[in-house]
Amino acid sequence: MTFAALGLSAEIVRAVSERGYTEPTPIQAQAIPVILKGGDLMGGAQTGTGKTAGFTLPLLQRLMAKPVAGKAPIRALVLTPTRELAAQVEESVREYGKYLPLRSMMMFGGVNINPQIKQLHGRVDILVATPGRLLDHLQQKTVDLSHVEILVLDEADRMLDMGFIRDIKKILAVLPKQRQNLLFSATFSDEIKALADGLLTNPALIEVARRNQANELIEQRVYPVDRERKRALLTHLIKEHNWFQVLVFTRTKHGANNLAEFLNKDGISAMAIHGNKSQAARTRALAEFKTGKLQVLCATDIAARGIDISELPHVVNYELPNVAEDYVHRIGRTGRAGSEGEASSLVCIDEKKLLHDIERLIKREIPVVQVPGFEPDPRIKAEPILNGQNRGQGGGQGRGQPRSGGGQARSGGAPRAGTAGKPAGGGAGRGAAPVLHRSGGRGR
Ligand code: AMP
Repeated sequence: MTFAALGLSAEIVRAVSERGYTEPTPIQAQAIPVILKGGDLMGGAQTGTGKTAGFTLPLLQRLMAKPVAGKAPIRALVLTPTRELAAQVEESVREYGKYLPLRSMMMFGGVNINPQIKQLHGRVDILVATPGRLLDHLQQKTVDLSHVEILVLDEADRMLDMGFIRDIKKILAVLPKQRQNLLFSATFSDEIKALADGLLTNPALIEVARRNQANELIEQRVYPVDRERKRALLTHLIKEHNWFQVLVFTRTKHGANNLAEFLNKDGISAMAIHGNKSQAARTRALAEFKTGKLQVLCATDIAARGIDISELPHVVNYELPNVAEDYVHRIGRTGRAGSEGEASSLVCIDEKKLLHDIERLIKREIPVVQVPGFEPDPRIKAEPILNGQNRGQGGGQGRGQPRSGGGQARSGGAPRAGTAGKPAGGGAGRGAAPVLHRSGGRGR
């Protein structure tokens, strides 16, 4: 199956092949023909399936079927729950539409509204927005949605989880009645079904397997620990259980580097992979990780997305991701065919809310395991997670002692990691090596 065979125009096929895609993903193969015909669609798919191109490519083509010269009105509206997703989708729209005379715009809150108002004075064919800010514009009458022909609700379940339903309804109320509606959601709760019932007309239902679904074979655990003692706990767990092929997620590149350095000093072979590393260094790290020579790989979400590493015995969330869905992606790396994988999260007081969001998303509570000697000090107060990293974590300094809450050093609770001994470097006993393969062009 090729993109051209799905009925996409030469300009779109060209942009897609320059992006490195050789064939459509299952959701694309199914969704594109439906959307091209003008029908409504309910898509069960989450990030990682290629859903963005699945709706963007046919959307671009449909807009091109009725070209509008000059200052065209907004004809396609894509609503997303987060600014990150809005930015990602809009970038895809621009990239896939780079040989087409269409203009797109992203719009989200938390930034000055004036540049957005200015941009809306120019040509915008496709608007990718988060509901809150779009509503602000509607109230200020700085956006005109009266010519929208295609509406996309991306990650609708997350929008509902985030409490956007009222905003969405207000937005729907100002759209023309006659339009094409596409709804994507990773889950089909009653709420989503109710939304879909009111929105979609005779929709095609397409559901694709969730590549990164939190599957039953993954044993998930939360290890409560103080932020300053995460590194000690990680070392303890790795040594105590003789873990090999451990993929450890940090929030930042800096955190990944520092953690790898710390682990090495502690006798655990570790390397950080991220965008700043050369391709050669990454390839080498992955090869060594695969053979078990390298015990731990420290990665950010972005770095891990670029390279498909799956079927690992251990994934560790050294820091919980800011976006709950990333948790599902991360732990999806473990759980080998037919055998169990372990996903361990080291959670400090600052991350309570993130944990709560994750548990809501996966609709279950993650069992808590308290490692003796690592009990959180109740006097330590939560601190905000700034710029994706809260202080003390992943940093190279400040070994051991908590810095907040008044200099309280724990007594009598030292971990007994030393007795576990230094693991041999051969990765023995972990069974099959993980599957490592480049995933053609995926992941940014
Ligand atoms: P999405 O599910 O839309 O977030 O896409 C997940 C990743 O898959 C993105 O990094 C895309 O660039 C990539 N991708 C989308 N379609 C294809 C394709 N047909 N072949 C290879 N990669 C793709």
